[in-house]
Amino acid sequence: MRTAAAYAMPSPNGAFEKVTIERRELGPRDVLIDVKYAGICHSDIHTARDEWGGAAYPCVPGREIAGIVAAVGSAVNKHQVGDRVGVGCMVDSCGVCAPCLADEEQYCESGATMTYNTPVDPAVQPGGHTMGGYSTQVVVTEHFVLAIPEGIGLDVAAPLLCAGITLFSPLRHWHAGPGKQVAIVGMGGLGHVGVKIAAALGAEVTVLSHSLSKQDDGKLFGANHYYATSDKQTFRELRNRFDIIINTVSADLPIDSYLRLLAVNGTLVQLGLPENPMSVKTFNLAAYRRSLSGSMIGGIAQTQEMLNFCAEHGIGAEIELISADEIDGAFDRVVASDVRYRFVIDAATI
Ligand code: NAP
Repeated sequence: MRTAAAYAMPSPNGAFEKVTIERRELGPRDVLIDVKYAGICHSDIHTARDEWGGAAYPCVPGREIAGIVAAVGSAVNKHQVGDRVGVGCMVDSCGVCAPCLADEEQYCESGATMTYNTPVDPAVQPGGHTMGGYSTQVVVTEHFVLAIPEGIGLDVAAPLLCAGITLFSPLRHWHAGPGKQVAIVGMGGLGHVGVKIAAALGAEVTVLSHSLSKQDDGKLFGANHYYATSDKQTFRELRNRFDIIINTVSADLPIDSYLRLLAVNGTLVQLGLPENPMSVKTFNLAAYRRSLSGSMIGGIAQTQEMLNFCAEHGIGAEIELISADEIDGAFDRVVASDVRYRFVIDAATI
């Protein structure tokens, strides 16, 4: 076993502390990565604070990882020492079920192994659960390691590994593009990348945000329209407007009000994962043959497609770079929607 420095949450109500963790020795198909940057996704907060239940401690979050390959196993042929690489939300899957064979490992029928907080054999991760990128090094099987194109800085690429693919996948699946009206609800870490990607895909993009405070940024990111959801007039004016609504909000929303903004055959895609169940008025679905759906990150092949697309279109996340001893404060600021637009930890400070 090798050791790495990491920042871990010891308990649901605790504060991050610096720890030393073990990483497995390289197997033939493993890649050792020196982490350079790790984004802070709201899912890190839901997990570290055990808002979804079932968190394992010590919890080392981090699923938006960008770094440099430090060593490779004897059978690795996808990456070489010195390559710029990324790791997102998954580090393994069964590889043989229908979703895995269809390049949708995130829907693995055995359950994909997530980058942190998934129970695993201690030979895979000492401690018995996966530990993520708030760490100086990670060991990941090569299939789950992405190439980061030269055109994107590693710091602004890190959030693409979760936020980027989580938006790219449904935008592709529901055919966002020219002639399509797309609304992005919530312009946070996921949402702001979604605005950039939807605009680059050629859709007409509307942001539905709490307030107009981020309107100028939204327009810079490529939004054609920007509305405040605190204004009741928004829901009257935009009735039946959208083909696709992507909801990235991490809190409970009055979902029926948003369903009524869908055009005939429109789909509301739920990405935000608040703790509470939701209920809808079935009339709001039936009346215009509307759909309510969800989407979970994206497969590895599509994640590479997304990174290449972002490099081609000059898309990176807007970030606030922090040191590792600032993680607790950053978590509080994310919960308060006080980040423009993604905190990224400089792993040199771990
Ligand atoms: P984030 O940076 O905190 O952004 C969420 C945005 O939602 C905020 O910026 C804010 O945007 C809006 N918002 C927050 N609280 C609100 C409230 N009480 N009422 C109305 N709007 C509110 O979070 P994130 O990292 O983008 O993640 C968003 C959610 O997606 C989380 O629940 C996360 O767990 C989930 N997620 C899902 C997947 C998936 O695969 N489905 C992947 C990653 C993350 P405005 O200020 O513009 O209103």
